[in-house]
Amino acid sequence: MDDPRFDASPLPATYVRQSPPPLGLPALSGDLRADVAIVGGGYTGLAAALHLAERGTRVALLEGHEIGWGGSGRAFGQVVPYAKHDGWHILETFGDAAGERMIAALGAGPDVVFGLIDRYGIKCADRRVGLLFAAHSPAGRATLERRVEFQRKRGAPIELLDATATERAVGSPYYATTVLDRRGGSLTPLALVRGMGWAAKGLGVDIREHSPVRQIVRHGKAWRVVTADGAVEAGSVLVATGAYSNDLWPNLRQSFIPMRAVQLVSTPLSANVRGPILPGGQSLTDTRRLYSGVRLLDDGRLHVSADGPAFATGGSVFRGKAERRVRSLFPQIASLEWEEAWSGWVDVTTDQYPRLHELEPGLWAAMGLSGRGIAWGVLLGREVAWRMMDMARDQWFMPVTPLRRAAVRPYAAPLVGALMAYYRVLDRFEISGYVGRRNPDNR
Ligand SMILES: Cc1cc2nc3c(=O)[nH]c(=O)nc-3n(C[C@H](O)[C@H](O)[C@H](O)COP(=O)(O)OP(=O)(O)OC[C@H]3O[C@@H](n4cnc5c(N)ncnc54)[C@H](O)[C@@H]3O)c2cc1C
Repeated sequence: MDDPRFDASPLPATYVRQSPPPLGLPALSGDLRADVAIVGGGYTGLAAALHLAERGTRVALLEGHEIGWGGSGRAFGQVVPYAKHDGWHILETFGDAAGERMIAALGAGPDVVFGLIDRYGIKCADRRVGLLFAAHSPAGRATLERRVEFQRKRGAPIELLDATATERAVGSPYYATTVLDRRGGSLTPLALVRGMGWAAKGLGVDIREHSPVRQIVRHGKAWRVVTADGAVEAGSVLVATGAYSNDLWPNLRQSFIPMRAVQLVSTPLSANVRGPILPGGQSLTDTRRLYSGVRLLDDGRLHVSADGPAFATGGSVFRGKAERRVRSLFPQIASLEWEEAWSGWVDVTTDQYPRLHELEPGLWAAMGLSGRGIAWGVLLGREVAWRMMDMARDQWFMPVTPLRRAAVRPYAAPLVGALMAYYRVLDRFEISGYVGRRNPDNR
């Protein structure tokens, strides 16, 4: 299995063009004191930094590369109001009271993200127009029907679109059923994370880039967060290093499985070709097991989540597969050229729920976002900040759990690789039997 720590692939040019400039801050040199030290400059670390600094806490944030280097600068861009699992799975896993709190918090997640964007005037091409989620099979359709019923009971503005409305919303007759969830939206991920970085700097957070933390050690009542050329001494620490974690704390890196996710962006489509595609500006995913995201960027480029090597830094994206999918969805696209491919690593836990650990008193770790990190990462960072300041207790929703090694991690590449191969076949089989046929029985 390749290692995200040594993946030097650049941030996507597509996003760099649409984002504020990098912060360009110097590395830590010598000793610093702060109330709170944060390790990792993605959504989780920066959301914590912002919420702490807003209340006058002195924060130092150490980032190993540059702000947004990890998943936060490379994501697809959907701001989702849900977990990997449906609400009923959350209730079964966490119990009714804790589960309902989590469902409500996640439902409000996009508003928390959009609230930050408004508060700090972050320009990140955010679209607050909802998300489309389509059924790729009869089982998928049943899941969506149950999801809509479940969420509507809790007051969520979510609706099931029939075949005609689906065709209009997607711009294609490919699917027969879609859900429109008005709580979500999309944005340019790197622009958001850099915007959060600039906002944190503006509030006085002492951010040091190119400062990988090597270890965290007790120092009397405080913690020392140690880099090659210096250390931050702080009363509390948050480790928010996601899939890119190193060995700064025992077993942290072993508590999840790092998986690589790839993205493709086309050259701009002509105005008449792109006109009917996703006319409401939503991004689209479907119920298949593997990657399905599609959205149209402001400049007319088509952006898709693609399948590809899940455990290797090298290897090619499965462009042919992505192209076949796009062509069956939008046959009017006569010539499709991919302009850019990039990838990032996702910290997947064994049950695909994120983790919040208090490793020792005052030393927190928040990670394992399992590919649902824009809203959930912001919520997680905010919750750690609240816990450190002992405030907003009635809104805490994350269980604090002990750190455990993921037992399957040494075998993850062959095991998950085999599972993904099986899912590829299953997805293909289900799709060929259901969508794209314009069969009245399916619509
Ligand atoms: C291709 C892709 C598509 C995705 N699409 C979506 C999507 O559409 N919607 C969604 O909600 N989520 C999506 N995700 C998931 C989401 O991007 C992540 O869950 C989220 O960005 C994680 O944020 P984070 O702050 O926890 O970690 P990261 O953003 O990964 O940040 C961790 C940071 O810690 C730094 N670091 C690591 N070790 C150290 C150290 N020892 N010292 C100092 N710094 C260190 C890293 O350099 C990195 O910048 C996607 C992820 C990928 C990769």
